[in-house]
Amino acid sequence: MIRSLSLIGAVVAGALAFALPAQADDCAITVGSNDAMQFDTKEITVPASCKSFTVTLNHNGKLPKASMGHNWVLTTTADMQTVANEGMAAGAAADYLKADDPRIIAHTKMLGGGESDTISFDVSKLSAGTDYTFFCSFPGHWAIMKGTLSVK
Ligand code: ZN
Repeated sequence: MIRSLSLIGAVVAGALAFALPAQADDCAITVGSNDAMQFDTKEITVPASCKSFTVTLNHNGKLPKASMGHNWVLTTTADMQTVANEGMAAGAAADYLKADDPRIIAHTKMLGGGESDTISFDVSKLSAGTDYTFFCSFPGHWAIMKGTLSVK
C-alpha cells in the first residue's frame, strides 16, 4: 500500500513538473534598468498560451527618479511616439504618462534608483502579428530605452 501511494505521488509530481515550469518561467519577465539609461532587455516574447503576463522592472542604479526615472510602458509600435510625446507634456507628477490613455496597454510606475515595481496585464489585449514596443516615458529616454514585444 505504501509503495503504491508513493508511486502515485511520483506520477503526480512528474506531471506537475511538466505542466508548471513553462507557465512560471514564460509568463513573467524581469527587466533591469540602470543609471546609464538602459534596459537590459531589448526583446520580449509573450507566449500566446499565457492568460496574463507579469513584468517586474528593477531600477538597479542609484540616481533619483527626478533625474534618472525609469518606467516600463507598453504600446503598439505605431502608438509609441505619440504616447511618449503626450506623456512628456503630462509632466513629472503624472509619471510622464497621459492619464487613462487607452493606447497604453500596461505600465509600471516611474522608479528611482533601487526601486522596483511589478505589473500584470491580460495577454488577450495583445494580438499575434502586431508589433509592440516597450519603452521608458521619461523625457528623452525613449530614444534608446526601448525594445520590442511580440506574441507567439
Ligand atoms: Zn528612464
